[in-house]
Amino acid sequence: LPRVFSGIQPSGNLHLGNYLGAIHTWVQEQNQYDNFFCIVDLHAITVPQDPAELRKNVRDLAALYLAAGISLEHATIFVQSHVPAHVELGWILNCQTPLGWLNRMTQFKDKSQKQETVAAGLMNYPTLMAADILLYDTQVVPVGDDQRQHIELTRDIAERFNHLYGETFVIPEALIRPVAARVMGLDDPTQKMSKSNKAANHSIPLLGDLKATRKAMMRAVTDSGSEIKFDETRPGVNNLLGIYQALTGKDKATIEAEFEGQGYGKLKGAVADVVIATLEPLQQRYNQLTADPAELDGILKRGAERAAEVANATLLRAYQQLGLR
Ligand code: ATP
Ligand code: MG
Repeated sequence: LPRVFSGIQPSGNLHLGNYLGAIHTWVQEQNQYDNFFCIVDLHAITVPQDPAELRKNVRDLAALYLAAGISLEHATIFVQSHVPAHVELGWILNCQTPLGWLNRMTQFKDKSQKQETVAAGLMNYPTLMAADILLYDTQVVPVGDDQRQHIELTRDIAERFNHLYGETFVIPEALIRPVAARVMGLDDPTQKMSKSNKAANHSIPLLGDLKATRKAMMRAVTDSGSEIKFDETRPGVNNLLGIYQALTGKDKATIEAEFEGQGYGKLKGAVADVVIATLEPLQQRYNQLTADPAELDGILKRGAERAAEVANATLLRAYQQLGLR
């Protein structure tokens, strides 16, 4: 089976964008691939984290993967820092990546503006991400649209290394779904919904109170128009329609017909209904899973062992190509 790798940062506040851009796709297509789903804690520390919260967030994210329907029959779930090969290949790739390539990354520009002190690790984030992906001979990387540029960079880094030192890495492809690959903030539909954005009414949290979620959705910023149509020039309505489409699986024409002549209040209510119908069972399974931390720790330990076997083989190949080891 073709190999999939993807990951999410355990920085808390998981939201509907993470679900639709990443987890939902992973679950839907998991039986077509040999999957590695990582909890990328070393990425989370590129910005300040509270240690006790981080520790909790790692285990909670494992529970969320499972609650969303990731099956251990198809997937290895593990924590990035449990497999040291990520850091080692990350360093190697740092030494192979022109600084100009990193300077072009739009995520770095966005995120660095929001930090008082910008850590060097924030700039080097994409080379660690390239290591994450390349260690598993990954063919397919299912991600949200915001990661497109980082996957392109991963391909460039791998191609450059292969060219300079000989065939070493498999060149991966991004898998970005056409629907809801960039879920926007409820408070501002021109900004991507993000874990790191803590503004009130910004996000649709996966694990938040569902009544509060409905309220936030009813207050979602739209525009002064009234027509309910898929239209990128009206990002608020377009965002709600995209969420609705992703969660119902209906096509655009059917959805536009459904809402013809209706007001925005009706649309918001309908989207809130399908969001809550998705999140309610997810939260129930999540609560059951987090009640057994020893079980989760066991899954992560076995996951790291399996991941390390694959990763260490690739790492050794890279070291040897460079004339090391
Ligand atoms: P942060 O703001 O800390 O970067 P994040 O919300 O971007 O958090 P990540 O852990 O960086 O979350 O990303 C995890 C996955 O979720 C990635 O595949 C990313 O592309 C996807 N993703 C993140 N935000 C969205 C979004 N708004 N819409 C669709 N997919 C998203
Ligand atoms: Mg992100």
